[in-house]
Amino acid sequence: MEHPGTAAGRRAGVIAEIVAIGSELLTPYRQDTNSLYLTGQLNRLGVNVVFKTIVGDSHDDLVDAANAALSRTDIVVFMGGLGPTEDDVTREAVAEALGLELRRDAEIVAGIERRFAAHGWKMAPNNLKQADVIAGAVVLANANGTAPGQWISGKFEGREKIVMLLPGPPHELKALFEQQCVERLRARLPQQFISSRELKIAGLGESACDARVAPIYKRYPDIQTTILAGAGEIQLHLKTRGSSLQSAQDRVDELVNEIERELGDCVFSDNGDSMEQIVGYFLQMRNATLAVAESCTGGLLAERITSVSGSSRYFVGGTVVYSNQLKTTLADVPAPLIDQYGAVSKEVAAALAEGTRRRCQASLGLAVTGIAGPGGGSPEKPVGLVFHALASDGGTEVVERRFAGDRARIRWFASQQALDMVRRKLV
Ligand code: AMP
Ligand code: MG
Repeated sequence: MEHPGTAAGRRAGVIAEIVAIGSELLTPYRQDTNSLYLTGQLNRLGVNVVFKTIVGDSHDDLVDAANAALSRTDIVVFMGGLGPTEDDVTREAVAEALGLELRRDAEIVAGIERRFAAHGWKMAPNNLKQADVIAGAVVLANANGTAPGQWISGKFEGREKIVMLLPGPPHELKALFEQQCVERLRARLPQQFISSRELKIAGLGESACDARVAPIYKRYPDIQTTILAGAGEIQLHLKTRGSSLQSAQDRVDELVNEIERELGDCVFSDNGDSMEQIVGYFLQMRNATLAVAESCTGGLLAERITSVSGSSRYFVGGTVVYSNQLKTTLADVPAPLIDQYGAVSKEVAAALAEGTRRRCQASLGLAVTGIAGPGGGSPEKPVGLVFHALASDGGTEVVERRFAGDRARIRWFASQQALDMVRRKLV
């Protein structure tokens, strides 16, 4: 594909724009999620998505958006607005932007009529709109709905373009793209192989992490590196292309190894697994069992652990001990200890972990106690202060952390830190 145009001229490789059509996507109530899926699919084919546009159901706005997209990228995917109603304007507007006519396709008309007849419904005349095809387009059968997709490829204003019109409902779009578009695209794109890895990192802040890894990944300009700060973890996405899958994989593996050497056991996953999956994996590998006593996380820790299928093999259970009394009756924390140090203290965290380990007969006892806020803080014990304790036959460790943010964030970070203690113990 040639790309002497604006955005295309500045970049190497084939570039795409996704245009999502629907006024509901411009309200607070609906998100354009289709483009996330499509971006992943296009990336796997070696195509970079460089623009996404969202347009309401307005013919004129869509013509503008289509003209802009066609002027700056090689591949334009339009999705949504292919239905039968007045506000479905995609076919008309894209035809106008391309300077091509719409023709009613007799076969599609017959298909829609059959579909209605099969359900015993009477077809409303506006359904015929769905049989309008842009001159020269390949009709892409829609196995899950009445609106077929369309594929147009050819020279527009002197440049090779591929244009797709896809239905908006996500299950229709996915099936149609996979069945009808992937192979068509592959046949027209330069052959290339893409390898990607995702590293997850815990126990380091985003800037501290970047300061350590940037000098490394900057030496690999051929690998696209994206750093994302998540909830209690940092994600590093690495992606490269090669002339063979092996060469692309080897190249990414080389960078992964260097980063892992630098960050050591702060890297908890190099294949996208979640913290709770990794913890489960290590517990099984070490033949260990885990019990929890949760105060400020209120069950979140147990929820995360048990979200992993097969967790019954290593998770025995635990308690939500919110009141002081329950800390004593269910986890054997001596009442005088709570009186002396307070429920949020390293002494009580340790006693909770030990009591839970003993009571539940687990090899590891894990406890969390803290102040999730927004109320309940004091100068000595501010909101966000959390003690985490892990008891094992080798003794008990306690980690004190101060998390920033709202209640949900503090609780999440507390659960992440607690799980990370188990991981580091077993790694
Ligand atoms: P349409 O093809 O415009 O009739 O869209 C039908 C339905 O598909 C809409 O009501 C949305 O629920 C859904 N939809 C359309 N576009 C998108 C999109 N970009 N992402 C997610 N859902 C969508
Ligand atoms: Mg719509």
